Amino acid sequence: MEEEFVSKILKIGFVANDVKSFVIEKPEGYVFNSGQATNLSINTLRFRDEKRPFTFTSTNNDLVIEFIVKKYNGLTKNLHELNPGDEVIIREPFGSINYFGPGIFIAGGTGITPFLSIFRSLGEEIVKSNKLFFFNKTHKDIICEGELREMFNENVIFSLTDEKRKGYLNKKINKSFLKKEITDFSGYFYICGSPGFVESIRKSLIELGADKNKIIF
Ligand SMILES: Cc1cc2nc3c(=O)[nH]c(=O)nc-3n(C[C@H](O)[C@H](O)[C@H](O)COP(=O)(O)OP(=O)(O)OC[C@H]3O[C@@H](n4cnc5c(N)ncnc54)[C@H](O)[C@@H]3O)c2cc1C
Repeated sequence: MEEEFVSKILKIGFVANDVKSFVIEKPEGYVFNSGQATNLSINTLRFRDEKRPFTFTSTNNDLVIEFIVKKYNGLTKNLHELNPGDEVIIREPFGSINYFGPGIFIAGGTGITPFLSIFRSLGEEIVKSNKLFFFNKTHKDIICEGELREMFNENVIFSLTDEKRKGYLNKKINKSFLKKEITDFSGYFYICGSPGFVESIRKSLIELGADKNKIIF
């Protein structure tokens, strides 16, 4: 049976509309890679077997673990009702989104979570050698906007698909967007978002000349 680690919630705070950060104790000896996720549940009789995958947004070097969770109608709704002092259960880390070298990151909504851990684990200069396109419905949905702007300076582009706002693109991502915004398709591409988001971008990138072995998702 998969090993389980009970961990106390230390801190909870909003990082976007309907999106909370949960900082929890890091179990002794627990190790993960940036980009990985784990199956999490709430440590109560009612919810302990109700698991959902969440991605680590902290790095393995941190003394605590952070998850960023958007509220939907299932377990995430119950998670959002928790308080510091309540307990969650995490399990073994899994997943293989890794950083292989400078490239273009494309995220939709909570798809930013594995990238946050990767960016936080890289040095300041290395992060700036990458570019980020971050798609959200509206401005209030953007997770950790300030931190991302600080990390990337002019190398981050935010697009709001359902809102027009000065300083932000108002475009959906598709092949013509990628053709216009990207001049060099020879580097790495990192994509995370809903399955439809990932698959359509992956397909367009390959059509535009990207190497399918350099598309990480
Ligand atoms: C590998 C992996 C890593 C993940 N990491 C994170 C993370 O770091 N942060 C995070 O918030 N979520 C993450 N998720 C999604 C998370 O596991 C839950 O599935 C999701 O939050 C919904 O859980 P729920 O129980 O509240 O909703 P459910 O009861 O499963 O669904 C409720 C409603 O929400 C809709 N819904 C569910 N998921 C999504 C979605 N992703 N986008 C749009 N609509 C959705 C469903 O269609 C349904 O109508 C990850 C998923 C995977 C597979």
